Amino acid sequence: MVERKSSRLSHVVTMPAERPEVIIIGGGFGGLYAARALRRAAVRVTLLDRRNHHLFQPLLYQVAMAALSPGEIASPIRWILRRQKNAGVLLAEVTRIDPAEKRLVLADGEMFYDYLIVASGATHAYFGHDEWRTAAPGLKTLEDALEIRRRVLLAFERAERETDPARRQALLTFVVIGGGPTGVEMAGALAEMARQSLARDFRHFDPGSARIVLVEGGPGVLATFPEPLSKAARRDLVRLGVEVRTGAPVTSVSPGRVEMGADVLAAATILWAAGVAASPLGATLGVPVDRAGRVFINPDLTIPGHPEVFVIGDLASLTGADGRGLPGVAQVAIQMGRHAARNIQDAIAGRPYEPFSYRNLGNMATIGRASAVADFGWLRLKGLLAWQAWLFVHIMNLIGFRNRLVVLVQWAWAYFSYQRAVRLITGHDEDRHSR
Ligand SMILES: Cc1cc2nc3c(=O)[nH]c(=O)nc-3n(C[C@H](O)[C@H](O)[C@H](O)COP(=O)(O)OP(=O)(O)OC[C@H]3O[C@@H](n4cnc5c(N)ncnc54)[C@H](O)[C@@H]3O)c2cc1C
Repeated sequence: MVERKSSRLSHVVTMPAERPEVIIIGGGFGGLYAARALRRAAVRVTLLDRRNHHLFQPLLYQVAMAALSPGEIASPIRWILRRQKNAGVLLAEVTRIDPAEKRLVLADGEMFYDYLIVASGATHAYFGHDEWRTAAPGLKTLEDALEIRRRVLLAFERAERETDPARRQALLTFVVIGGGPTGVEMAGALAEMARQSLARDFRHFDPGSARIVLVEGGPGVLATFPEPLSKAARRDLVRLGVEVRTGAPVTSVSPGRVEMGADVLAAATILWAAGVAASPLGATLGVPVDRAGRVFINPDLTIPGHPEVFVIGDLASLTGADGRGLPGVAQVAIQMGRHAARNIQDAIAGRPYEPFSYRNLGNMATIGRASAVADFGWLRLKGLLAWQAWLFVHIMNLIGFRNRLVVLVQWAWAYFSYQRAVRLITGHDEDRHSR
């Protein structure tokens, strides 16, 4: 049993010390798939994350919209890697990277690495208006999802007691800012909740009268999809009763109020689904970053001047074969994670690094029950077929057989009964299925 003397954090290692130490920051899609891809490598892997769970972010809006519970879309990283003998997991927050010393500064210590994979992801950005954050929460973590769920359900509960028509209308007005996949998913799910799931639950108002407004600064929703799919998504949203306002950049957000120039909306619930900022760790590497804080990386996923440091996933900025920047999606992170792991094994074997090439497996967004759009390049789908493809891909990619089974049952139940499974309002909504 050997411990690196230079690390101040105790790390029980069962591998010989001469094996290189690979530290991975982040147990999201990029970091987790990198760790798994190193399972047969002659290295010691330490995965650091400030949370103890891997989160399946594509289904986060289902937790926010009371359709799934947190435990159904998250699994402890330690549990996922339990059979991987060369890997250890540490709950730790990295505050700074010092590539010159091959050193990580943690909130409570420091560690040293031979190879480093930085996969600390991104979060939402408020276009320089951080003061909008409390009025309009974004969706990135389980805590965010539970807070959004709490606000949405509370608005309906308060509307039941409100006698003033104008105040009740404000309580029943929900504004989603940002017409990308997350905004579209949230607006569609909100409309379904109001018009179907809650239809018979209240006595003093009709939940179907709720106003759901999707606000987008650009000319259309789902801007990264081909135009026919973007238009189909808009049609489906309108069919669900969502008011879609495009070409309407938001100029001010405050509690209960959204302004788009002279246009003012009174809304008790405002949700943020626009803008991305990379993890601040990227800026500590001392190499160039783009406006969103993403690190400009070499084609082999390393940073300039440091062949032992890889940056992957949402934190990385890399141009694809089509000349456009690779998107911040799970597949990019997963493929980069596997590629970085391969390059590290090449380096140990004395082989040169291979450049990364992204294989686009398709782009999907769901709009509501039995409605989605999917772009596979060679095939474009919309409506029920696209939704079935979306369902299949998301079930198959969930980590853990139990989660897949539970989610499938929940969805089948919701599909046939129009019911949302977890309409509970709690300050500290507990995971119903903690392991
Ligand atoms: C609501 C939502 C819906 C989405 N839907 C889709 C979709 O349908 N399809 C799709 O392909 N993509 C979707 N995405 C995007 C996709 O989830 C991301 O592209 C992907 O998660 C990026 O993976 P990553 O490993 O780079 O980062 P992440 O998965 O975000 O993981 C980063 C990890 O790093 C940890 N971390 C961060 N900072 C530190 C630190 N300082 N110290 C220690 N640990 C740290 C975090 O806790 C986290 O576990 C969605 C994203 C969101 C937010």
